[in-house]
Amino acid sequence: MTQDDFFDSPPEDHIRPSRLDDFIGHDDLRANLKVFLQAARERRQAMDHTLFYGNPGLGKTTLAQIMAGELGVNLVSTSGPVLERSGDLAAILTSLSRHDILFVDEIHRMPIAVEEVLYPALEDFKLDLVVGQGPGARTVKIDLEPFTLVGATTRIGLLSSPLRDRFGVILHLDFYSPGDLARIVTRSAKIMKISVTDDGALEIGRRSRGTPRIANRLLRRAQDFCAVQRKRCIGAAEASHALERMDIDESGLDQMDRKLLRVMIEHYGGGPVGLKTLAVACSEDVRTIEDIYEPYLIQTGFLKRTHRGRVATAKAYKHLNMLG
Ligand code: ADP
Repeated sequence: MTQDDFFDSPPEDHIRPSRLDDFIGHDDLRANLKVFLQAARERRQAMDHTLFYGNPGLGKTTLAQIMAGELGVNLVSTSGPVLERSGDLAAILTSLSRHDILFVDEIHRMPIAVEEVLYPALEDFKLDLVVGQGPGARTVKIDLEPFTLVGATTRIGLLSSPLRDRFGVILHLDFYSPGDLARIVTRSAKIMKISVTDDGALEIGRRSRGTPRIANRLLRRAQDFCAVQRKRCIGAAEASHALERMDIDESGLDQMDRKLLRVMIEHYGGGPVGLKTLAVACSEDVRTIEDIYEPYLIQTGFLKRTHRGRVATAKAYKHLNMLG
């Protein structure tokens, strides 16, 4: 598994659910969002600014697109690191039509100067622009159309509190259960015209790190193995074979997950070990470990985060057949 597995390839776009009713799992979140969308529609007002947070591939972009579809408005997409100057944001904000959705992915990576331009826009739909430089500089106030900001972040802790406080709706996306992932696999297979049994879908769902994007990716790879072996349908055995060939084990851990745990145990006595040290020892980027690998290992009980560093649990020792 590479970092690319966490980003959509273009063909994946057509399996993205476009209606709230097609969005699988997270029933409470979906029910609440349905109410907020209906209320905004009935009030004929822009929906409150909304923040989605959770790991990559869990459905934040999908939900932003669904919101735009359900409200019948345009979705304009950008991302925090792309908005380098306040002018970049101003250009986008002034181009929005009434009640449009502005989707900002990785909103925690938006520069602070840009963030400050956003505050009055979020509160009063006004933009304070500084025109010119030096003593001749002046501030121009521009009225904006009412719009909804939908932010997505993998790291809510990195969002400044003034920005966080301006979101009226904050929704957390957690990992999916194997059952929900199996339903996602079955739905995607139907759209992609891939034949998969319930057991096959569950096997893929169980080993997809709780993440729909990975489940869809593994479904495609399982299809590749089946096609080459001239098999018509992905059953549990075919799914299991494909996952083993991709080095994804029974618990859904990939090579890098196991490397992280093994390095902690073999070189650092199981921890505590600092994140930076671990990243260097595994030749991996700190952010990738923090955003992609660690959350799943913590969630599944293989790793613990303590104030002194990361610690491998007894479950990790057992999984790797190592003595504690
Ligand atoms: P994020 O923005 O959180 O990184 P995305 O919204 O891009 O994740 O979702 C990744 C892929 O997973 C999408 O292409 C979509 O097809 C699929 N997906 C995500 N959540 C769901 C869901 N609840 N039901 C069905 N498919 C989903």
